[in-house]
Amino acid sequence: MTTPLVEMDGDEMTRIIWKEIKEKLILPFVDLKTVYFDLGLLNRNATDDQVTADAAYATREYGVAVKCATITPNKQRMEEYPELKEMWKSPNATIRSILGGTVFRTPILTDHIKPVVKCWEKPITVARHAYGDIYKAVEFTTDVPGTCKLVFEGNDGTIKEAIVQKTDGPALFQGQHNLDSSIRDFARSCFRYAIDVKQDLWFSTKDTISKQYDGRFKDIFDEEYKQFAPQFEKLGIRYFYTLIDDAVARVIRSEGGFVWACKNYDGDVMSDMISTAFGSLAMMTSVLVSADGKYEYEAAHGTVTRHYYRYLKGEKTSTNPVATIFAWSGALRKRGELDGSEELVSFADCFEEETLGLINDGTMTGDLARMAEPGTDITSVDTDTFLDALSERLAKRFRTA
Ligand code: NAP
Ligand code: MG
Repeated sequence: MTTPLVEMDGDEMTRIIWKEIKEKLILPFVDLKTVYFDLGLLNRNATDDQVTADAAYATREYGVAVKCATITPNKQRMEEYPELKEMWKSPNATIRSILGGTVFRTPILTDHIKPVVKCWEKPITVARHAYGDIYKAVEFTTDVPGTCKLVFEGNDGTIKEAIVQKTDGPALFQGQHNLDSSIRDFARSCFRYAIDVKQDLWFSTKDTISKQYDGRFKDIFDEEYKQFAPQFEKLGIRYFYTLIDDAVARVIRSEGGFVWACKNYDGDVMSDMISTAFGSLAMMTSVLVSADGKYEYEAAHGTVTRHYYRYLKGEKTSTNPVATIFAWSGALRKRGELDGSEELVSFADCFEEETLGLINDGTMTGDLARMAEPGTDITSVDTDTFLDALSERLAKRFRTA
């Protein structure tokens, strides 16, 4: 390694697994360099959450980060950790607000777990635009008849006005917005990501109905595509726009293997559908890509609290480490690509191949064993046994290599 990875440690069961992945699976094989930030809840509290912002700024500087799952405190956590000075914000939200960009979620496929949709053979990545629309809408209801207007007052005195509706009884209204700059960043992150993974990019809205609002999304994607088109053509991948209802039908009939860019609400709903249909949150990776090409890799699941409390009582747990492993391999591969280190890229590839190889050969954690196709010869193991078996496979591979 030449440039270090930004390493963001986290909480509970995933923090335990994080350390083991490093010690058993990475450090014996890679001369690992990281800039370490402890995003565990207690350290966020001790630093007044400055550590989270520092980690995000470091990601801007170095370009590639890997993050462990972290607790987002709520009321119940405030009781569990009485030392908390505040109900700290979600670290992911803080990092996203500093880096901007888009979150891409991709399922990890294995031989034993079949997607609910039979024709899906390759993963489908959902890219959700995480700004605006109904998530930043204002709304109210009225009991009296009247007229609702949409008014824009420009700083230069421009006035734009439209009647939303004249109503003669109780009614409900909502005003939403988005920003050209945010949509443009979203488009760039999506084109960049599709080029990275060499897959087609689909984008869908409802521009037949929402001619100006959704139409603007489509136009901005078309404009931005111009600068990426030569790279798409060179790689033999395509950018494909269609209506959201048509997209939904095509996704279900497809064999997978593409990136699906969705507006905020569509992405919220569709990413849950896609991840459930592919199997499990424990087999879902997530990467935040900023418009200027900074990457933050993580697992899509949380800190697996229930397992952590069993672990504290001395029990062995069967927590699935695969999504966290793929966060590390994704970050190491990207670092290798950016630094021109073929060895690091090749380690990342081997790391993933051996992880999937172990599962495909029948050794897996309980969550996967429960979902496996009936009649397959599988062994359900605890996390430590899984990690040790994987460590042996890697050692064997690199001894013979
Ligand atoms: P969770 O940690 O994802 O776990 C929910 C349940 O899903 C677990 O109890 C477990 O089911 C199953 N599961 C999830 N990941 C698994 C894995 N790797 N292996 C095996 N089973 C797995 O979600 P949560 O319990 O709602 O949230 C816990 C904490 O995580 C919260 O404090 C939340 O703020 C935080 N969180 C963080 C992130 C993030 O940092 N990106 C994301 C989501 C949540 P069983 O108990 O039935 O085995
Ligand atoms: Mg949701």
